[in-house]
Amino acid sequence: MDTILRTILVAGAEAARRVYSFIRKNKNGGIFRRLERLRKEMMQTSAKATQMLTYEDPFSLADPTWLSTNLGILTCIECSGIHRELGVHYSRMQSLTLDVLGTSELLLAKNIGNAGFNEIMECCLPSEDSVKPNPGSDMTARKDYITAKYIERRYARKKHADTSAKLHSLCEAVKTRDIFGLLQAYADGVDLTEKIPLANGHEPDETALHLAVRSVDRTSLHIVDFLVQNSGNLDKQTGKGSTALHYCCLTDNAECLKLLLRGKASIEIALHFWCYKRASPYLSE
Ligand SMILES: [Zn+2]
Repeated sequence: MDTILRTILVAGAEAARRVYSFIRKNKNGGIFRRLERLRKEMMQTSAKATQMLTYEDPFSLADPTWLSTNLGILTCIECSGIHRELGVHYSRMQSLTLDVLGTSELLLAKNIGNAGFNEIMECCLPSEDSVKPNPGSDMTARKDYITAKYIERRYARKKHADTSAKLHSLCEAVKTRDIFGLLQAYADGVDLTEKIPLANGHEPDETALHLAVRSVDRTSLHIVDFLVQNSGNLDKQTGKGSTALHYCCLTDNAECLKLLLRGKASIEIALHFWCYKRASPYLSE
């Protein structure tokens, strides 16, 4: 995380250079303390994640050693290979035993889980024949099924067909912090980066991610995480030019910031805004 903080501070823009030199000269200043606190909070998350894995076992699969971090489900090692082949915009696999997972990687697994995911994504599974692979199925059968389920969303419950209804349900899910409502919108094939209809928007033309970040607290990080990992574009700007990262700096939520940076939200676009906002009270002294 030091690298990210350093990137924010020393990135080429003129504004950043001015702020950086200011911070170096005023090490007791508010900005420096804030960054230090942020760094410490980020370091503590790994320790918390280890505890979660040790004390919680909410899964009932035979050998669930792989995690799709963006969908919040566990798979066996064979299926994880097929998920990897789909590409990271469909599924991001991490090993529960080989990778070092932080709290943020487990957010969706804790809040979605296989049962909740399948209730929506396997709702229309034909019951008469056994389409779903079992532990003895070969790789071709698994691949066909996984492609149908995750890429075509062939077995998903569909609630809304027209774009406007999909966007309304997306907006509602984010507002009410309803992860399964969000998953339903995803199953309906909503464009997660689209402007959402919102009467009382902070700025015009917000996306679901702006809304989620603007209202984030400790109980709704998983909503932000789902959008970060499944939107494909974290740098959509409002009518006033703000990205989700801008909004995040306003809410001052370190864990939300971490999710956005991990998802590779553009620091450059947010840089001027962030530095000026943080530094302006001190620069005028
Ligand atoms: Zn499997």
